[in-house]
Amino acid sequence: MHAEIIAVGSELTTGEKLDTNSQWLSLALADAGISVRSHLTVADDLEAMVDALRSLAARSELLIVSGGLGPTLDDLTRQALAVLTGGELVLHEPSLEHIREMFARRARPMPERNVIQAMFPAGSTPLPNARGTAPGIWMEWQSPGCTTACRIAALPGVPSELKEMFHREVLPRLGGGARVIRRRRINCFGAGESAVEDLLGELTARGRDPEIGITAHEATITLRIVAVGRTEAECREKLERAATEIRSRLGGLVFGEEDDELEHVVVRQLLAAACTLATAESGTGGLLAHRLTQVMGFRGCYRGGVIVPDDRAKMTLLDVPPDVLAANGPLSAETARAMAEGCRRRFGTDYALAVTECPEPLKGSDPFAGHSSAQVLYRSPAKGSDPVHEPIAWVALAGPRGVSVEEERLAGDPAILRSRIAKSALNRLRLDLLRGE
Ligand code: ATP
Ligand code: MG
Repeated sequence: MHAEIIAVGSELTTGEKLDTNSQWLSLALADAGISVRSHLTVADDLEAMVDALRSLAARSELLIVSGGLGPTLDDLTRQALAVLTGGELVLHEPSLEHIREMFARRARPMPERNVIQAMFPAGSTPLPNARGTAPGIWMEWQSPGCTTACRIAALPGVPSELKEMFHREVLPRLGGGARVIRRRRINCFGAGESAVEDLLGELTARGRDPEIGITAHEATITLRIVAVGRTEAECREKLERAATEIRSRLGGLVFGEEDDELEHVVVRQLLAAACTLATAESGTGGLLAHRLTQVMGFRGCYRGGVIVPDDRAKMTLLDVPPDVLAANGPLSAETARAMAEGCRRRFGTDYALAVTECPEPLKGSDPFAGHSSAQVLYRSPAKGSDPVHEPIAWVALAGPRGVSVEEERLAGDPAILRSRIAKSALNRLRLDLLRGE
């Protein structure tokens, strides 16, 4: 069965509010084995709503409408449904009684205009609202020329009321879902989206079961596996098989699953190995420390960090030798190495991660001003030289097995540059700890 969702509200189409109801409904429907084909957002405008209802009711088996059931003049869902079916709005006494009671309980008189909330398109069924005044509407409508009817549920826009009504009133009416849909997310870091796709080969082909999709967020690649089956166990088995295959093809690129971020994994690894970590950052401005200190239990392994954009701070807080800075400048492998070594010594930790300064995009070469990201120019690392196209930063990792320094090439969206370097530094440590296991 395919479903479609209409979210009603001018606050949504103007961009003032985000339509989270459709997102929630899609996930809830998927859990019931029903896939959603489209989301449509419509303003509080009768004509636009009727248009939307007409076209969607003619092509889908299930239509969920959210919002527009309130008592005010701009709440038009029930009127739009009446226009769709060509019927009248009819008063439903028990609903009016419920609304009166809701007001009485709050010791307030019921405004006359709330009567509209007890009016329903002829032939529809009111859906009780346990949490608010506006009842929902359930109806079936066979569009002219169609052989089957579309089932329509109109639910209140208030998210808590919508969720309750969906579970209590809508789900039971959909019949025992013939299918179960289950998902699993596998998170990777260290290769681009297309490289990961190449490694996965035919696994990501459309129409495969389970289906595997790829999304990227700030250089983290997420593989979304969706399995459809008759039972929970069947889905679980499919997900497990796909996850195993993905792990074997991607190897060390996979760092975790579901909500795992690199810092969660690194903290887990450090705790398991009973090792400690400190950080020294210039270009990432504390992002590493910020990420690490958000992980539950970080105190068991993270001893602290310093932010040292200033050369004097690098010398006084990390003992970076003045001649290293003078000879190589702050953006160099040598400085990164000295920062990591000094940080490890000063904090007395097993590991230290250091990030040098990151080149910043030059003003006026913003990719969102019509340039492609390949045209963005960055402040050059060396004083007095021309701006560069491909910026680099240096990340150093000092540990029990010595110090390694690597160059980070930072092509791509400048807006996520810092976040990518921070993640890349964490990934460096993750891979080192993996090797040491
Ligand atoms: P009410 O009886 O409260 O008026 P309603 O069905 O008319 O209910 P709306 O007036 O459209 O609902 O919205 C009520 C509240 O719910 C508003 O705060 C609105 O921003 C929020 N809301 C409406 N639609 C959505 C949506 N799709 N996603 C998230 N919030 C929503
Ligand atoms: Mg409204």
